[in-house]
Amino acid sequence: NDQDQWTSVDRYFTELLAPDDEALAAALADSTAAGLPEIAVAPNQGKLLNLLVRTQGAKSVLEIGTLGGYSTIWLARALPADGRLISLEYSPVHADVARANIARAGLDKLVEVRTGAALDTLPTLAEEGAGPFDFVFIDADKVNNPHYVSWALKLSRPGTVIVVDNVVRGGKVATAHPDDPAITGTRAMFDLVSAEPRLDATAFQTVGTKGHDGLLIARVLD
Ligand code: SAM
Repeated sequence: NDQDQWTSVDRYFTELLAPDDEALAAALADSTAAGLPEIAVAPNQGKLLNLLVRTQGAKSVLEIGTLGGYSTIWLARALPADGRLISLEYSPVHADVARANIARAGLDKLVEVRTGAALDTLPTLAEEGAGPFDFVFIDADKVNNPHYVSWALKLSRPGTVIVVDNVVRGGKVATAHPDDPAITGTRAMFDLVSAEPRLDATAFQTVGTKGHDGLLIARVLD
């Protein structure tokens, strides 16, 4: 069926272009062993994030939604030695697993995982003057996506790139689903981005190991 074909094409690309190394494989294995849900980005998506951060020449990255730190490792590996990544995670259990995975990957000097609801930790970041970030990856509770994009904008500079994951959700995004908070939040995020004069954006659908989904990529205008 379609999913089998999508999965085999992802495997083909991943083996050639984005194979998991020891630290990435161990991050996934330890996340599963600790009971975390298996919802990290796929390896070829992790590689996309890594390439985008390097293309952007980013030195500072903000991630919202750490899980076990799999995407964090891909992102942080794109940073120079004086770079910095802050990743926000609600669950203390997820954050602990992520910190161990990030340390094993040798990235703990660059990465800080902050525990708490992102809508609480984002204002703290702003108060600290932690921004502007060069790159923001939003991958947490989808209902809050409009708030996360607004915060990403507040913590940005002209040229900052903002990526939002899981914006297609099996195609449901194209129509209103009032009973599905993830769709409602994602659609509100699209309304916000399309009406926001400071953002220039596109979105596209993907198929792969993770089914039918997609990404939004936005750039803060000069
Ligand atoms: N970016 C990760 C990766 O690809 O490896 C996957 C992140 S997972 C899809 C979403 C994460 O967001 C979960 O670990 C969840 O606990 C976290 N989360 C959910 N609600 C949150 C909130 N309000 N604030 C911060 N993190 C939240």
